[in-house]
Amino acid sequence: MTRPADHWYPAYVGLGSNLQGPARQLEGAFELLGGIPETRLISQSSLYRSAPFGGVEQPDFVNAAAALLTKLPAEGLLRELQRIEILRGRERGNLRWGPRVLDLDLLVYSNHRIETADLTIPHPGIGERNFVLLPLAELAPGLDIPGLGRLANIVVSETEPAISRIA
Ligand code: AMP
Repeated sequence: MTRPADHWYPAYVGLGSNLQGPARQLEGAFELLGGIPETRLISQSSLYRSAPFGGVEQPDFVNAAAALLTKLPAEGLLRELQRIEILRGRERGNLRWGPRVLDLDLLVYSNHRIETADLTIPHPGIGERNFVLLPLAELAPGLDIPGLGRLANIVVSETEPAISRIA
């Protein structure tokens, strides 16, 4: 897909932490998202507490979402998210569903669909997890997620682990 230069693209990021003061980690991460070059932090969701996913014994997670406008391509934005994760002490290569100081996922990038070795957009877990969908719905209930449809229509699941707003 051709990408006009110097255009602002809406992008949505999912945040999660369950180590070293998760709420404080997310507050710090919002600030760092606002400092990404050629990018503006437009809004941030409330913080939500959720039970861990994937069967690993570990503390509850705190999750949130952020809305950005960016001139970076999706791949460049992902690199910036990974730089922030490492800056905050994230060790790569840990357990897939294991504990983490900070996890930043690029959930949606404009109306693009991307499938490369390093990047899948929309994020493949987006439609399955209310700890992603609920914070995102707070920011953009009318968001149309390529391949999944309108966000407000897919935030439904009674089988999900409990999730509650904490701040
Ligand atoms: P995780 O352990 O969940 O942070 O996964 C990180 C890996 O997922 C990295 O190797 C990324 O290249 C890859 N990845 C693929 N698509 C995405 C995405 N939309 N957002 C974040 N990471 C992604």
